[in-house]
Amino acid sequence: MKYIDEFNDPDLARRLLDEIRASVTRPWALMEVCGGQTHSIIRHGIDQLLPEEVELIHGPGCPVCVTPLDMIDKALAIAARRDVIFCSFGDMLRVPGTDRDLFRVKGEGGDVRVVYSPLDALELARRNPDRQVVFFAIGFETTAPANAMAVHQARRQGVHNFTLLVSHVRVPPAIDAIMSAPACRVQGFLAAGHVCSVMGTAEYPDLAEKHRVPVVVTGFEPLDILEGIRRAVHQLERGEHRVENAYPRAVREQGNPAALRMIEEVFEVTDRNWRGIGPIPVSGWRLTDAFRAYDAEHRFDVAGIRTEEPAACRAGEVLQGLIKPTECAAFGTTCTPRTPLGATMVSSEGACAAYYLYRRMTDAPARQGSRIPQEEMNPVG
Ligand code: SF4
Repeated sequence: MKYIDEFNDPDLARRLLDEIRASVTRPWALMEVCGGQTHSIIRHGIDQLLPEEVELIHGPGCPVCVTPLDMIDKALAIAARRDVIFCSFGDMLRVPGTDRDLFRVKGEGGDVRVVYSPLDALELARRNPDRQVVFFAIGFETTAPANAMAVHQARRQGVHNFTLLVSHVRVPPAIDAIMSAPACRVQGFLAAGHVCSVMGTAEYPDLAEKHRVPVVVTGFEPLDILEGIRRAVHQLERGEHRVENAYPRAVREQGNPAALRMIEEVFEVTDRNWRGIGPIPVSGWRLTDAFRAYDAEHRFDVAGIRTEEPAACRAGEVLQGLIKPTECAAFGTTCTPRTPLGATMVSSEGACAAYYLYRRMTDAPARQGSRIPQEEMNPVG
């Protein structure tokens, strides 16, 4: 399949690995920011093929995983209302809130529906004028343009029973926060190619300069990731810290101007809490005042919700690259995709889910003995 098979070529992968081995002279720690990259790395065993000097640290780039607990609990409270049709991508349905998840709300009679686009939710609102339709608008810069478009269309078409519960997050402030943490070991970044296809690369040179780290915009197939690693290691060995685009088939420096215009019209930058990490300044988007009428937090009374994370869950450390999922005592025992304690075990981009799916039998030998039921993994990305 064009653009997929050709980026899985084993001979080219060996050549890239040989180049990385030939250039590396000392230990380097690189962070892949995106959960999609993490899954590709673990699935294809890329981290195990690299020379031992090159360590990959998994970053917080799983949107489901970093959606804050209070926002999940607000979603649960809104979804339980009898006048609401609550729409979400499938990944969110099993994300644990303080005492339940959206599946539980659905089982208890809530009208919770999986949609594949916010425009599907808008269509539901048009067809059900006597109900309130809420779309759970989570995600990084990648999902923001479509969510902005849905609100833009709702206003243009005069659809007033449609709102977004917005929990958008932005990558560059998260990189800045990770690099500013005292315990940070990251020396270079593989930036998320799909985020940069929307936003471009303009936000990264200042970060590379401030923290003196290479930032290589990287795709998601095995050869994309190896090429990103090769370029990052090459820069580190030469003492450089530049932004490089290793994903030119999708990313241009200026990003996607139409998508950027839509985001700018509908959203404004705000501080945002990241689940497991905490507040990060200017790391999110919210609806502007002009679109406040389409804000579910504004329309429904969801203030004052009290949240509580399970004490055993170490997802915050996983998301910051401080531990690997298998170092969590709950991994594969009390925490599995069927009984998740944290969102990183639920999401198709979560690091704990990746290790459970691809490494449970090898990286956690004490917990061997049961097969991994494929159906435990949520197929909706
Ligand atoms: S394995 Fe489960 S409990 Fe442990 S950090 Fe991951 S999600 Fe949390």
